[in-house]
Amino acid sequence: MEKIIYADNAATTPVHPLVLQEMLPFFTESYGNASTVYSVGRNNKAAVEKAREQVAKAIGAQTNEIYFTAGGSESDNWAVKGIAKRMAEKGKKHLITTVIEHHAILHTMHALEKDGFEVTYLPVDEYGLVTPNQVEQAIRPDTALVSIMYANNEIGTIEPISEIGEICKKYEVIFHTDAVQAVGSVEIDVVSQNIDLLSMSGHKFGAPKGIGALYIKRGVNPINLIDGGAQEKNRRAGTENVPGIVGIGKAIELATADISNKANKLEKMRDIIIEKVLTLPKSRLNGHPEKRLPGNANFCFEGVEGEGILLKLDYMGICAASGSACTSASLDASHVLLAIGVPIEIAHGSLRISLSENNTEEEAHYIGEKIFEVVTQLRNMSPLWEEIKDI
Ligand SMILES: *Cc1c(COP(=O)(O)O)cnc(C)c1O
Repeated sequence: MEKIIYADNAATTPVHPLVLQEMLPFFTESYGNASTVYSVGRNNKAAVEKAREQVAKAIGAQTNEIYFTAGGSESDNWAVKGIAKRMAEKGKKHLITTVIEHHAILHTMHALEKDGFEVTYLPVDEYGLVTPNQVEQAIRPDTALVSIMYANNEIGTIEPISEIGEICKKYEVIFHTDAVQAVGSVEIDVVSQNIDLLSMSGHKFGAPKGIGALYIKRGVNPINLIDGGAQEKNRRAGTENVPGIVGIGKAIELATADISNKANKLEKMRDIIIEKVLTLPKSRLNGHPEKRLPGNANFCFEGVEGEGILLKLDYMGICAASGSACTSASLDASHVLLAIGVPIEIAHGSLRISLSENNTEEEAHYIGEKIFEVVTQLRNMSPLWEEIKDI
């Protein structure tokens, strides 16, 4: 087997070697419970607090506004359910989100609808953008929360978060953003962007799976999701995952250290791929041409199935993703691609490439060429392509 080219960093990332190095002692020598008084525990408490500071600093928050969770899904659930249930006490039972959120938000919203909440799902334009004006129009006197993702995990579109934050502030509505894809990729400042709650997940930027954080602005008070012990200032129970917490602290420091340089490097590689791939007939780039994550390229190809492309790329040592999990069942077409107006049959021919700093320009050229080759091969075998190619 040749070298693997990993281009699925939006799904997950490997643990950074320096992150692992920082974590290791906390599995063995320094195993004490961070909530105890003896010194092995106290050292761990200090390590947790250092990580809290690292996370806070990376997004412009105060240290005591960061709460550790077991990942992005938990942070999203806590923010949305916690605020919804808190505001329901004041008779506010209306929530606003978008149709292109991650399922950690969408399915949470569906659960709340069953509990008697009303949810407005804002549509997006052909690029996947929602406008601040749409948010403003949707806000009502009984609106409890606006939850809009920072950047989309499939098509990479970056939403106008600062402008939406300003609208929410003006109407005194709490604003949450699922920033799982954005942290470590774009500059974030929760204060100037008027963000009240922000979700992140360690495994999307070089920490392990199963560790995340929720930023909760001082004075914002979601109901607890996990009840139990007094950890995380009585707001999130459970013995601290010290190695994970140390890991997310180190990872966020590394990921945000030189973010604009890193973004330039990723954009250059991404654009090499885009340029090559779009020379294929009946291909399109999904998402916004500029307002997109630096490492994300998402394509649709008429006349081919995403799964077929993935399997062939895998055979060539390239790991990528497709928006559709299954070949023909319409239910499995990506809700994001459908929301930006991609016809269902074309949505099945989608491909997502998501790069990291571990990729090289040489790999970007290789990826572009191989996608070109694979799509051409698949089309040559496809009776469907015969029918549509000249239309
Ligand atoms: C990955 C992801 C999540 C879920 O995070 P987990 O840590 O895997 O639970 C939520 N939202 C977005 C946008 C994501 O990309």
